Amino acid sequence: KPIAIITIGMAGAGKSTFVSRLNSYLHSQDPPTPPYILNLDPAVTHLPYEPNIDIRDTVSYKEVMKQYNLGPNGGILTALNLFTTKFDQVLDLVEKRADTVDYIVLDTPGQIEIFTWSASGSIITTSLASSLPSVIAYIVDTPRTTSPATFMSNMLYACSILYKTKLPFIVVFNKTDVQDAGFAMEWMRDWEEFQGALNSGNGNGMTDGEGEPTYMSSLMNSMSLVLDEFYKNLTATAVSSRTGDGFSDFLAAVEASREEYEKDYLPEILAAQ
Ligand code: GDP
Repeated sequence: KPIAIITIGMAGAGKSTFVSRLNSYLHSQDPPTPPYILNLDPAVTHLPYEPNIDIRDTVSYKEVMKQYNLGPNGGILTALNLFTTKFDQVLDLVEKRADTVDYIVLDTPGQIEIFTWSASGSIITTSLASSLPSVIAYIVDTPRTTSPATFMSNMLYACSILYKTKLPFIVVFNKTDVQDAGFAMEWMRDWEEFQGALNSGNGNGMTDGEGEPTYMSSLMNSMSLVLDEFYKNLTATAVSSRTGDGFSDFLAAVEASREEYEKDYLPEILAAQ
């Protein structure tokens, strides 16, 4: 059975570039294992790969904007809703390929919340995950997450997606050709390292005039402990979608997720039916 890789990430993190690199990487395997790719971003103007199913073939978000008198975000969300009403047909097409394809790859809308906080996003995710092993690939813009506060916000967002979908979860530190992800791996492995980074640096508002920790600093310290629990539930890999570095590690993590899906997720679906 194929596994579905749902690519999620902040705008500009490199989702489309990642999907494109994954596509070429899988094509170059011996034997080649071409994936089946779904583009769910109605507003993308150029894609660096050729999707098998493209939301843009079904709905034009510009037409939707005009017809329903919406702004760009409303247009994108409504286009996704319209597409979702036909998702059973999409699943049929995907299932027809189940014997010949090892990977189904989903590229999601540029703005992360359109997918993660919409009814359509949940419907697509749960209906996919009830018919196929599925995993979330959460793409992180590594060069833009080197400050401890940004890193923590990004991980809290990832955490909220994990608890919402409850699917196996891979954090993908992208753009390692520009910024090595060692710092992030270290922060995830050892929360004391992370707290050290949080508390270092003078004049960052971490202590008040008397040298006492500020509200912000104690909040961040407590949250780093919460995140420590979260990290135990996920895998992290480092890749460069530009050079292709790290993609074999990523695929190994995907294989491990398949087992996790079968052990933890599938029993819950079966119990709910
Ligand atoms: P999306 O909005 O998440 O789909 O992001 P895109 O795939 O459009 O990428 C956003 C920008 O990041 C583009 O300019 C890409 O060329 C660049 N980018 C993506 N992945 C990498 C990478 O691994 N290394 C570098 N240096 N740039 C990248």
